[in-house]
Amino acid sequence: NAKKNGGNKAIFYSEKSMHSDIDRPRLEAHLRRAIENKKIDVFYQPKIKVDTGVVFGAEALVRWTDEEFGNVSPVIFIPIAEETGFIQPLWELVMEKSCEQVSKWNQTRSHPLSVSVNFSARQFQEPDLMLETVKKILAEKNLPMHHFEIEITESILLNNSAKIVQSLQALQNQGISISIDDFGTGYSSLSYLKDLPINTLKIDQSFIQNINEGLENTEIPEAIINLARGLHLDVIAEGVEKEHQKEFLLTKNCVLMQGYLFSKPLSSAEFEKFLFDFENK
Ligand code: C2E
Ligand code: MG
Ligand code: MG
Ligand code: MG
Repeated sequence: NAKKNGGNKAIFYSEKSMHSDIDRPRLEAHLRRAIENKKIDVFYQPKIKVDTGVVFGAEALVRWTDEEFGNVSPVIFIPIAEETGFIQPLWELVMEKSCEQVSKWNQTRSHPLSVSVNFSARQFQEPDLMLETVKKILAEKNLPMHHFEIEITESILLNNSAKIVQSLQALQNQGISISIDDFGTGYSSLSYLKDLPINTLKIDQSFIQNINEGLENTEIPEAIINLARGLHLDVIAEGVEKEHQKEFLLTKNCVLMQGYLFSKPLSSAEFEKFLFDFENK
């Protein structure tokens, strides 16, 4: 996967290599320096409403290429950033870059894009600061609240504290959408879903990839689609790679999709080209 994203120097293909042979203090120091110098990129993966063929959103996915370590996967460096406290400046950087970029794209679009940013548990430890920062950046970048979405994993909701519910509610009151990422992998009780301020369930990509050509293993995605419908939530499938997976989702009326079938995450220049080609074809 890391290989596909370019860079023959990339050495962190798996978490396994992380535990064996990396110089973690050195990696940490490099990460800190990259964040300080804003040498962090954001890639964008299109979110598509397949029935109408509209690109309605872009997920912001952070990218870091180090001179020594090569392309380091966010699966590796996000946890390090969380443990060391760099996640706050890193998150602000991703927020600033992605909101500025999407706001710029929207100036010339008839269907404005919504930008989705992945939030860590850390952001919810200081909810007032988080909310103020979100408001400040969106205002600075001239991005309306309803063109902004946050993605959080179920695990953040696991400690379903009043504090987290309150800050999600505060975000939603501003017009911001809340999406539950990797939905179905969190082993959490479903009872919380009904009471939480959320807008979208994002079906985890593992469930989509398990759907084979014989249309086996469709039970879980189908159950999640029905659950979303029952709770009046939107539902999106991530990791759609194959035509038959798309077709299956369409038969279940799940029309929002994201995945390599449409596009992998792209640099901003590539994303612009994708928009042009996709919408003018
Ligand atoms: P995620 O938010 O669930 O993002 C989806 C991941 O799946 C991305 O990996 C994306 O490149 C990949 N993907 C998308 N479509 C397909 C597909 O069709 N097939 C396959 N095999 N993979 C697909 P990526 O960019 O390496 O990010 C991994 C995780 O790192 C993300 O999972 C997210 O949890 C985290 N992450 C990325 N950027 C940020 C960020 O700015 N902040 C935080 N807190 N976490 C981030
Ligand atoms: Mg996500
Ligand atoms: Mg996900
Ligand atoms: Mg994930």
